[in-house]
Amino acid sequence: MESLLRFDNRFVAELPADPESGPRVRQVHGALYSHVLPTPVAAPRLLAYSAEVAAELGLDEATIASPLFAQVFAGNALLPGMDPWAANYGGHQFGSWAGQLGDGRAISLGEAITPGGERRELQLKGAGPTPYSRHADGRAVLRSSIREFLCSEAMHHLGVPTTRALCLVATGEGVVRDMFYDGHPREEPGAIVCRVAPSFIRFGSFELPASRSDHALLARLVDFTIARDFPQLTGSPGQRRAAWFTEVGERTARLVAEWMRVGFVHGVMNTDNLSILGLTIDYGPYGWIDAFDPDWTPNTTDAASGRYRFGHQPQVARWNLLRLAGALLPLFGDGEALRDGLRRHDEAAHAAARHTVAAKLGLAECRDGDPELMADLCALLHAAELDMTLFFRALADIDPVSPRWAAFDAACYDGGKRDAAAGALAAWFRRYAARLAGDPLPVAERRARMRRANPLYVLRNYLAQQAIERAEQGDDCGIHELLELLHRPYEEQPGRERFARRRPDWARERPGCSQLSCSS
Ligand code: AMP
Ligand code: MG
Repeated sequence: MESLLRFDNRFVAELPADPESGPRVRQVHGALYSHVLPTPVAAPRLLAYSAEVAAELGLDEATIASPLFAQVFAGNALLPGMDPWAANYGGHQFGSWAGQLGDGRAISLGEAITPGGERRELQLKGAGPTPYSRHADGRAVLRSSIREFLCSEAMHHLGVPTTRALCLVATGEGVVRDMFYDGHPREEPGAIVCRVAPSFIRFGSFELPASRSDHALLARLVDFTIARDFPQLTGSPGQRRAAWFTEVGERTARLVAEWMRVGFVHGVMNTDNLSILGLTIDYGPYGWIDAFDPDWTPNTTDAASGRYRFGHQPQVARWNLLRLAGALLPLFGDGEALRDGLRRHDEAAHAAARHTVAAKLGLAECRDGDPELMADLCALLHAAELDMTLFFRALADIDPVSPRWAAFDAACYDGGKRDAAAGALAAWFRRYAARLAGDPLPVAERRARMRRANPLYVLRNYLAQQAIERAEQGDDCGIHELLELLHRPYEEQPGRERFARRRPDWARERPGCSQLSCSS
């Protein structure tokens, strides 16, 4: 393995470091990271890995099976060229400025250069205390690590931009968590995920130096980010900064449109959890829409305000982008380039939402009136309590002129509500049939388009929870089954129909299956 991974750690080579290393908790000024080593764990055991991420990194099966692999990705050993650090950043949490946050339990090992010449930062989540751990332990529990490992891989195969995961390692150590925040902490098994992305720089990475009026540090980070992560941008330094902000805004808009397409609710869209690359990052109390509900959030911490509810995600992304613009303003003169970037974000969000409408409904293009057709359908799905994933999947097979209602039985959570909405649904199908009659796509192409936009298998909250409960009993097979299933989310997989079923009644209010706390 030593010879297989090559590192080129530009973040630490080119940006200012905290002069103190080690995990003593502190405020770190004038620096973008601190050197800190992972804290070794008792008994590393590899639970799962992503074969594609391993292959991309040039790691073969023998390497992965070697004891050294589990040691390295548990934080017990370093490979030559690794130079661990924790990044320093701030963020707005639930609408308020939270000051310095930083990697409290993530430790980056290095920037690997793949055999294909791509840069991939390898980051352990749950590797022990850092200067940014505040009062917490720097560790992660098995349940949240399984959720991050599986969901980031699932998102990739859904075609949604995301950080990825190389592997999931059990630490052999207990971690104490008060899962319900009700004064009953218990010990749970600990684990570490190795996350992989070209960059883990966040909106909050720029907000922290800006909040301290450290404009020199802010400028260094901006220009570093552009040079390392956006090398395709050209022009004068000012032009590059302007084009960069626009690109961040456009990527963020497209990212959130993809979440809306597949029914993903991030759950904690704080500015420290928004990637500068427009990737889904920091999988915590996320969830998947079962019965369609724009007001649903999986995050119990956010249940009252619903700030990060499903239907609100595009607005939150824009709010976060405004915070980023505010942080960057000292570098942007009169700010006109930032205003222009925000306009371009809005256009990209609008275009992406229209694209989603056309793809999900199987239209050649989105015409005037189509967004309204979709909005009316969504209101009906909500009123009738129909499963988002199963409804859109069934829609591809339906004859819109005389829909067979039984096709939607699998999507139905409440027969009474469905029956109450039946007349309105029939009226909607008449509009849809008329719209399709005027659409140039041949039926087979329409159906194919819809099956590419409407997944059959998503990481339903209860499915993840079942795999977690098995793993907590020592049986990792549930993790492997889901990992394999979610490779091909748009394809019917004979024998795996049970993974496509709607949320069972027992899972409706069960912790982990519908509601999650931030405790992880
Ligand atoms: P999150 O909501 O997961 O994005 O975390 C917000 C902040 O809390 C980040 O600075 C994290 O690094 C930090 N944090 C969360 N959990 C822990 C933990 N167990 N130990 C140390 N820091 C943590
Ligand atoms: Mg975070």
